[in-house]
Amino acid sequence: MEGDNNDSSKYLEIIDSVKNENLALRTEIQQLKCIETSDAGQTAYQESQMRFRTVFEFSRLGNKIISSDLKIIQINPAMVALLGYSKKEDIIGTRILDYSPESEHQHWALLQKHLWEESTPFFTLETVLIRKDKTLIRVRVTSILFPDQGTNLGYTTIEDITEQHALKLQKEEFIGIASHELKTPITRLKAVLQLLNRMIKKESNIPEKIVTLAHEGQLYVGKLIHLVEDLLNSSKLEQGQLSIHRIKFPLSDVIEGCCNHVRLDRKHYVTHSGDLDTEIYADRHKIDQILVNFVNNAVKYAPLSEEIAIKVEKLTDRIKISVTDKGNGIPPEDVPHLFDRYYQVKKGEIQSSGLGLGLYISSEIIKRHGGEIGVDSQIGVGSSFWFTLPIED
Ligand code: ADP
Repeated sequence: MEGDNNDSSKYLEIIDSVKNENLALRTEIQQLKCIETSDAGQTAYQESQMRFRTVFEFSRLGNKIISSDLKIIQINPAMVALLGYSKKEDIIGTRILDYSPESEHQHWALLQKHLWEESTPFFTLETVLIRKDKTLIRVRVTSILFPDQGTNLGYTTIEDITEQHALKLQKEEFIGIASHELKTPITRLKAVLQLLNRMIKKESNIPEKIVTLAHEGQLYVGKLIHLVEDLLNSSKLEQGQLSIHRIKFPLSDVIEGCCNHVRLDRKHYVTHSGDLDTEIYADRHKIDQILVNFVNNAVKYAPLSEEIAIKVEKLTDRIKISVTDKGNGIPPEDVPHLFDRYYQVKKGEIQSSGLGLGLYISSEIIKRHGGEIGVDSQIGVGSSFWFTLPIED
């Protein structure tokens, strides 16, 4: 663990210094852009150019200047070392695509389009480069455009993130294995507690305390299963292993039975309206999972909203399903991030017991079905989480 902490603080330090260098270079380029045109600015221009050259040359980041056809015009020693060469001359005049696996060329085409065709001021991408010894390195590329002698050139910094990426993969793999291993014993525990509760119900002389404890045990194990499933699904998604098994079924199959646990808690009631008989072609288990997540969230984050309303609307070529609560709503600045991995709204009094994965997983599942997902929320009025699915003939 200590090693991990040392590693991460080492990476944080490197990332910080890289960010600072990046900022220094961008500031120099901005200054060059501003003073280039003014007469009085000639000396300042030359000084600034000198500073730019120094930062460019001695930066710990790989720096290069490229033209619109991705030809490398200038590079610094860090970039030469990054690609595994010994002299700048080996690289100057070649194209960046010469160091890119063919499968990654699309990323550079996108960079070219954004910078030179659409004049996007700033573009960043993650890709892979081939070193001289044919080993691959993972890099983060950041590019900006600047004018030079009547043309526009791209100033690009390249940061080696191979180790960071390998650590990320290791972390994903660990989460995947751990959640997979946890799932079987917890599922068994759930079955045992269900059986125990059923047996208790049949007996008349069990003390009240034991009845309550067995009931709570089943409740908590249910929550644990949700957490483990979220971790497992999120790790499958990251590794591109989440599969969708579509079948044709009426929406009523998932809506009517999905939230019995909520109906039973007596604080909330779930209503449904609209065309429940509509048939959809989708992964039934995963659509059920999304609805349960929406309803559970309404219970967690809108505890005073007694009614949770599920509504089905048939649109021209889609079906829209929404889950609406009358809770406190979500601050508008948080709304665009709600479906991001691990995102949780921090402000407010309600603390969540979750991992910030439910909505991310829901959104990935809906994307894989060709649908859309979103939320309409108003502070003090409530939230309506919805998704659409295409209607197949
Ligand atoms: P988790 O519930 O595990 O935190 P989710 O991805 O399901 O993760 O939800 C992300 C965040 O969205 C929650 O942390 C919560 O802040 C917010 N949220 C979700 N549903 C609602 C809701 N119905 N009302 C208010 N906030 C909500």
